[in-house]
Amino acid sequence: MKKEIAVIGLGRFGGSIVHELDAMDVDVLVIDKDENRVNEYQDYSAEGIIGDSTDEAMLKNIGIDNYDNVIVAIGDNIQASILTTLILKDLGVKKVTAKAQTSHHGRVLEKIGADLVIHPERDMGRRVAHRLVSSSVVEYLEVNHNHSIIEFSASKKFESKRILDLELREKYGISIIAIKRDHDIIVSPDPDAKIIEGDILILIGTDRQLGIFEDRMEKLK
Ligand code: ATP
Repeated sequence: MKKEIAVIGLGRFGGSIVHELDAMDVDVLVIDKDENRVNEYQDYSAEGIIGDSTDEAMLKNIGIDNYDNVIVAIGDNIQASILTTLILKDLGVKKVTAKAQTSHHGRVLEKIGADLVIHPERDMGRRVAHRLVSSSVVEYLEVNHNHSIIEFSASKKFESKRILDLELREKYGISIIAIKRDHDIIVSPDPDAKIIEGDILILIGTDRQLGIFEDRMEKLK
């Protein structure tokens, strides 16, 4: 099913969203004040508009309110990012996703009604930090400012151990949500279930607790 999405700002971040959406066969409207950028994405978008997104009349004229999802991928120009987000919400766009450059920028975006605020640089930095501490962390997802979910690859050391034996809650204060095994997912696994080498354990906890666990597991390797 085709979904209509608009991306405002074709820097590296906005541009990669457009490429990915195009690969997923989603129709994308792209908007940028820089003509060269709009031309660059001609082959990957359904429509391109050269214009300033802080121009409310322009956004209204192109019928931006018909789009369910609009992504504001303007980063450096914080004023333009905030004003664009405000206008989009005023015009009734259902879901506005905005990229924040700093935590203050993010807080302002939330206050003015952005439905989703993303911090790509900060999140990528955190992801890299978790992977640096433990090579077994294959994925990282932020839940809130101090809680995360990690995907942890179980090494040989875990083979045949019961979940219960790991004492995740007692020792680290973290919980196991699910286990990915081959192409299956075992949700809320039984504490008596045995782990197999190569299982991906999906764990939730505070960043600090997860960090202690990751560090400990790395040292046990
Ligand atoms: P990235 O970090 O994603 O690479 P960048 O640093 O290249 O971004 P930004 O300043 O974040 O650049 O801007 C991203 C894009 O947004 C640029 O192509 C810029 O022309 C566009 N842009 C900035 N302000 C506006 C605006 N008011 N209206 C439309 N497009 C804008």
